[in-house]
Amino acid sequence: MVNYYAMIKEIRDYADENNVPIMQDEGINFLTTYIIKNNIHNILEIGTAIGFSAIMMCLSQPNVKVTTIERDEKRYIEALKNIKKFKLEDKITLIYHDALDVKIDGKFDLVFIDAAKSQNQKFFEMFSKNLNEDGSIITDNMNFHGLVFKDEGEIKSKDLRALVRKVKNYKVFLENNEDYVTRFHNVGDGVAVSVRKK
Ligand code: SAH
Ligand code: MG
Repeated sequence: MVNYYAMIKEIRDYADENNVPIMQDEGINFLTTYIIKNNIHNILEIGTAIGFSAIMMCLSQPNVKVTTIERDEKRYIEALKNIKKFKLEDKITLIYHDALDVKIDGKFDLVFIDAAKSQNQKFFEMFSKNLNEDGSIITDNMNFHGLVFKDEGEIKSKDLRALVRKVKNYKVFLENNEDYVTRFHNVGDGVAVSVRKK
């Protein structure tokens, strides 16, 4: 039998050593549970990193396929290696490209946004075209490591303040979006689930 546990630990260790911000247990458990409960089979992921979440989503239940986009070469290569280790080459399609500048064909049950936080709204608008009629969009890092709950004055760096503001604005964008109903879950680093209205 293949020892998945050891293989997953290897990916986690690599992420820790190389500062790759992959999802932690709580977030990944939430995501895979959502996939099972909602019988999701086709997933588009923005932000592969080294393939961890793509692999975990793929293993969550039978017949899950993931298309995932990564713009960083080193991470893309590492993701390729990991996907191969798990023998998931026929289930995970890896695209080495900037997601802001790519055209994806096909429809998905779920779009999972986990890339540059400042671009969340753009990703949402771009890839909602790829969503099945009753599909949903999940966005990670809505809490931005707790920074969204701080007073602006507490955040010293100007760039960081601007980024925090963007995450907050994205939250408002989701709340006011007439086409989707969004719920915010305080798990992991904060996960938003936006379900398209019928
Ligand atoms: N989903 C992964 C973690 C992704 S980390 C997991 O949990 O296992 C975010 C990744 O998004 C980084 O590797 C970063 O290079 C990538 N990224 C950020 N902006 C991007 C863009 N515009 N296009 C493609 N990838 C992007
Ligand atoms: Mg994340």
